[in-house]
This record gives sequence, structure tokens and C-alpha cells, in this order.
Amino acid sequence: MSSNAELHARRQLAVPRGVSNSLAVYAERAANAELWDVEGRRYIDFASGISVLNTGHLHPKVSAAIARQLEKFTHTCFQVTPYESYLALAEALNGLAPGPTPKKTIFLTTGAEAVENALKIARFHTRRSAVIAFGGGFHGRTLACMSLTGKVHPYKAGFGPMLPETFHVPYPMPYHGVTLEHSLQALEQLFKADVDPARVAAIIIEPVLGEGGFYAAPAELLRRLRGLCDTHGIVLIVDEIQSGFGRTGRMFAVEHSGIEPDLITIAKSVAGGLPLSAVTGKADIMDAPAAGGLGGTFAGSPLACAAGLAVLEVMREEQLLTRAQEIGRFMSSRLKGLQVRFSCVGEVRALGAMVAVELVKKGRAEAPDAELTRALVQAAARHGLIILSCGVYANVIRFLAPLTIPDAVLKEGFRLFELALEEAAGGGVQVKAAS
Ligand code: PMP
Repeated sequence: MSSNAELHARRQLAVPRGVSNSLAVYAERAANAELWDVEGRRYIDFASGISVLNTGHLHPKVSAAIARQLEKFTHTCFQVTPYESYLALAEALNGLAPGPTPKKTIFLTTGAEAVENALKIARFHTRRSAVIAFGGGFHGRTLACMSLTGKVHPYKAGFGPMLPETFHVPYPMPYHGVTLEHSLQALEQLFKADVDPARVAAIIIEPVLGEGGFYAAPAELLRRLRGLCDTHGIVLIVDEIQSGFGRTGRMFAVEHSGIEPDLITIAKSVAGGLPLSAVTGKADIMDAPAAGGLGGTFAGSPLACAAGLAVLEVMREEQLLTRAQEIGRFMSSRLKGLQVRFSCVGEVRALGAMVAVELVKKGRAEAPDAELTRALVQAAARHGLIILSCGVYANVIRFLAPLTIPDAVLKEGFRLFELALEEAAGGGVQVKAAS
């Protein structure tokens, strides 16, 4: 049996440092919200492989669907010999996407590929090239997606030049003094100073920033974007790769605002751990590119489509949208309890089970504590809990437990987080005096 240390030493030699690991813990097996490493140590998984396992590791129904498909075929390429599961999953997503306009869906493999395709579709439909995205947003690591991403280090630095005609406006982060008005003024200024709205193909926004730190866009911002896009013939792309698939208590986070986006990018939890992504959008826009303009060899793999259909069944049967709200209420009330005790707990944010806590020095929003955040991720792992950091200032802990997590495991995981916080916050230094 290999140890974590042995594997990590091999990793340093075999894999480039650009792919970083937040922990030197090597997975051996996993079930629902628990994971065991190669040394037999158990962890509670509050990361879900970055929001991929809303239905948990190896959900029996998802595994059974994959196993059934494995008996039939693993690959034909949808463009060569199509298969029904692709159609059935497309029909299901078309029905689930918000708004009355008829929808169509294309499947791809990764989140970045979904964003790339949404952009291609928007450009073809509008015959325009410019794109507006948001500071702090994350849309993937390919060249176009990296250009849309609103964070230079580590995502863009050294990888330029970026896609031309890509513009960023601030995403509202009230905790850091960036308001809805700031974002709207920046958009107005952009149209005055930098780009004619008649040249803009798309505006892309995450309804809740994922990598950027779990700030939710105010419904008013999404409504104003919808209005702007309608006025100027711009395609509104909502990137639901992290916020989708039930995480926020709705199928898609954009539903909280009541608007109908033109295109939605979907990935991560859609296929319960298998690589699958999608663009679902208004049928006339989706149909813009000519035959042969879209596709991909592995896009919409039959194994992943079978898994995706099972995921939807599990979400319905286990009422995971309601469960997301319960998990969110539990997590945020417990985190608010910690906020009273620890001056490093700055802001607690939650939309359904998309929950985060921002760590700062002495309760001051302007003093983000990235060092404590890094230490907390390591401390949590020592206590047997896997958590992830994020945020434009690298000072946010995000909680992405599977929505299928049993109550007992959820509570146990949170207790481990408390222990880790007590340890990382440094023997009482950060602890507030009782008042
Ligand atoms: N968009 C968002 C909102 C994401 O969170 C991510 C991944 N973190 C991506 C796009 C890119 O997805 P992938 O890593 O599958 O390419």
C-alpha cells in the first residue's frame, strides 16, 4: 500500500506544479459524503470535488445507471451514431430551464467547453464579437474562458494575450463596499467609454460567484442585465456551472431572480461525478450555428448521459432542492454562532446550500486573512474534514457538502470544522471576549 507521502513525492516528479493540490491526501474510495484515503483514514467531504457531487459519491442509482450503460456501449460519438439518452437528457434540461421560450440543449464534456460553446453560439447568433463579464468571475481555464475570468492571479498571468474585446465590470460585493449601483454605473461607463453595445455579443454572469467567493448577484442586477440585453440585442449567458443543479435550493440559481436567461451553461453536478457539460438555451439562438459548427468527439458521452438521467431521478425522489435549503439553514445558523465567538469570522453568506464564510483580521472586511484560510483548510484535513477555499482575496471557505449528506454526518462535519477553526485561529488570539 502506498502512503500519502509516497504518492505526493511521485506527484511532484510526474505532474507539473501548475495543477496545484490543496491537500496531500490521496483518495482510495468514497461513499456519499465520506471519503477514505490510501492510508485508510476517513474524511467527511464538504467539497464534493468542487461541487460535482450534489448527489454524493457513488449514489447507488447513478452507479446502477452507469453499469447498465457499460453493458451496452461506452462510445459511438453522438455526431456519428446518436443514442436516446442524449435526447432524453436534453429534453429534461429543456424542460427544467427557466422561462416559457422553447429550449434546446447541446452536451459537451467540461465546464470550460460549455462556456466556449455558449460564446460561439452567441457570436454566431448576433454576428458580433465583444463580451462583457464580471470581475471576480470564473469561467474556466481554456483561452476564451480564461479571458472571461475576472481574476489575474493565478488564472491569467503569463498566459496572454487574452481574447480581444473582453470587458469586465465589478460584481457586487457589499461586504467590500461594491454595491449594485457601482456595477450598473460601470456598465453605463463601459458603453460610453469602451464599447458600443451594438458590438456586444454576450454578457456572461454567474448568478452566485463560485471561485470568486460565493457572493450572490442581487435579483435587481439580473433583471437590469435582462433589460439591457433586450434593449441592445445582446445574449445573456448565465454560468450555472457551480451554482446549478439544486445547490442553491432551486434547480438553477438564476430562478431566484425570476428572469429568463438566453443561454445557461451547466456542468459539474449534472452527471453525478462523470464528465458532462451542457449549454441549454432559447431554441432560436441555439440553432444559429450552421450544421457541423458545434460538437465534440466525447461530447455527451453515453455513460455520462445515463448518469445524468439518474441524477435527475435522484433529485426528484430525494427532494434535494428542499434538502439544499435545510442544509443551508443549518450551516448558516451554525456559522453565525461562530461569528459571535470568533473575530476572524467576517461574513457568513448562504443561498441554499451554497454556503461560505469570509475570514478577516479582527472583524475588518478590509483585512482579508488568506493565511488563516490556508491554515484552516489544512487543519480541517487533520481533523478529517475536506473543505475548499475560494474568493478574490483567497479568504473564503466554501461549503459544498453533497445534498444527500445524512444529518449525522453533516453535524459531525461541522463539529470538525469548529475544532479546526479553534486550532487555526490560534489558541484564543482571534476569539472574541464573552460579552
Ligand atoms: N464556470 C464556473 C462558474 C466554474 O465554477 C467552473 C469550474 N470551477 C468553470 C466554469 C469551468 O469548469 P471546468 O473546470 O469543468 O472546465
